[in-house]
Amino acid sequence: MKILIVEDERAIAEVERAYIERDGHSADIAASGTEGLAKFYQDKYDLVLLDLMLPEMSGVDVCREIRKNSATPILMVTAKSGEDDIIAGLDAGADDYIVKPFSPRVMMARIRANLRRNKPTQNSLKNNVINVGDSLAIDTDNLTVLKNGEEISLTRNEFMILSKLASRPEKTWSRDDLITYALGYEYDGFERSIDSYIKNIRKKLSDPQHENGYIRTVHGFGYKISDGTK
Ligand code: CA
Repeated sequence: MKILIVEDERAIAEVERAYIERDGHSADIAASGTEGLAKFYQDKYDLVLLDLMLPEMSGVDVCREIRKNSATPILMVTAKSGEDDIIAGLDAGADDYIVKPFSPRVMMARIRANLRRNKPTQNSLKNNVINVGDSLAIDTDNLTVLKNGEEISLTRNEFMILSKLASRPEKTWSRDDLITYALGYEYDGFERSIDSYIKNIRKKLSDPQHENGYIRTVHGFGYKISDGTK
């Protein structure tokens, strides 16, 4: 796999590249947002590791630009204090994030998870499919979602949240539940991140035949899934 590192601090970029190469992948380094975009358009990458604090063009703008016509996984790198940056990055379409200072082993685990998500396993013998209403099918073996028969591209975390909601159609999940049961103990994000993920899932699932949407807000508590009819 080929990974694009967008990071203006050379020393950090070199450490990231060393760990990526140790895992058997290759990596290119871009030292600014504009260079990152240029490289991204020139070459084909399987994942982008994107620092948010970049000179000139911010990581959020880079992310938004890539998302205009690509579903390549984007893993953001942010500072611990940057809750607003994290929300902005997720809203711009990033798949996941890690917080500086991070352990390189955690970084590699996140990279592997996001690469896996982008490359569904071939031909599972047994498909576990959750249907929501008559138009949504969530395949938890192949990690794919079909809306009216067409595949929707969700990020790993979006998929985990949607499939968790759909696993218990009658249940309302708090943001904390969703972090615990959908994203797991490795997740060190904020409760507000859930709202960004939900917003992105809703956008991707929007369907004129189900104008009330599949995911309902339960005010003061959290979210639940609906088959879209009531
Ligand atoms: Ca930086």
